[in-house]
Amino acid sequence: MGRSNHTPQRRCAACGNTAAKGEMLRIMRVLHDDEPASVKIDVTGRGAGRGVYVCSAECLEKAVKTRLFERALKMKIDVDAYDRIREQGLQLL
Ligand SMILES: [Zn+2]
Repeated sequence: MGRSNHTPQRRCAACGNTAAKGEMLRIMRVLHDDEPASVKIDVTGRGAGRGVYVCSAECLEKAVKTRLFERALKMKIDVDAYDRIREQGLQLL
């Protein structure tokens, strides 16, 4: 009788398409007590905190190029952090 589980959908921050949450890359804000907030790729998809999704390698590149994560996560992200996300993200997508 079809699928019984509802698959959560998320919207890509770069292209606006929706896709199943599990097929997208989630970038999340990580808060620290004693240093500025940082960003990381949420590989489990279950990390708590503000997150932003991209659906493809193309969209990840676009997001990095336009510094989209800074606006989406409302935080400062330095170039090194963008590079790390890009490198790791391209392997996952
Ligand atoms: Zn996209």
